[in-house]
Amino acid sequence: MLQLCFIEGMSQEFVLQRQQLIESLIQAGIRDEAVLRAMASTAREQFVDQEQRDLAYADRALPILMGQTISQPLMVAVMTQALQLSGSERVLEIGTGSGYQTAVLAHLAAYVYSVERYQQLSYVAALRLVQAKLDNISLYVGDGSLGWLDEAPYERIIVTAAAPEVPPSLVAQLAMDGLLVIPVGSQRRQDLLVIRRTSLETQTYSLGSCVFVPLVGVQGWHPG
Ligand code: SAH
Repeated sequence: MLQLCFIEGMSQEFVLQRQQLIESLIQAGIRDEAVLRAMASTAREQFVDQEQRDLAYADRALPILMGQTISQPLMVAVMTQALQLSGSERVLEIGTGSGYQTAVLAHLAAYVYSVERYQQLSYVAALRLVQAKLDNISLYVGDGSLGWLDEAPYERIIVTAAAPEVPPSLVAQLAMDGLLVIPVGSQRRQDLLVIRRTSLETQTYSLGSCVFVPLVGVQGWHPG
């Protein structure tokens, strides 16, 4: 009984913290109400490791297994907003990590395909996504710098790890008029690029600088 009250009290506290986080995202300039709603209905505390739960709603990246990170909530909001999702899109995500960004996308898209290079992370993310009762997601373990050819093309692609240059495979798997959001630059600092594929060319603009863990793969950084 005591334990139950404690757990209920804890989750109430998280609801409050989640509302405060949404307020801070609005203050920071996030305007897309669907993105704010999706983040308001995604329990970030369920996607961080037990030791990090108290920090689940701090607007910062946190360590997860395999030396990787769960992205800062503001970065999740900026990248998701840049995808301009209407609900009908099939989205490819590279870098499942904790599964938090995957969950946010699943609220906003028709279907999410997410690739992670570490099996351990993909496995834990799968458990959390089932717990969150999301069923429009497929996970795959492999080198996401090469995309996920079997399910291509995708109306949207989001890469949550830093690439030295835009992987040609991802551009090739992007549908016409599709959008690709990807951090590109050195391992220390990147530009967050938004790339639109049109019939003749690709148009690129930058949303500013950012810092992500490296995209390690054939069309990313080489392991070493
Ligand atoms: N969206 C995740 C971000 C995790 S960090 C979250 O918020 O939790 C980036 C992830 O990209 C890491 O889990 C890392 O293992 C993964 N990654 C790096 N290179 C990759 C590759 N070539 N293919 C798939 N995943 C990759």
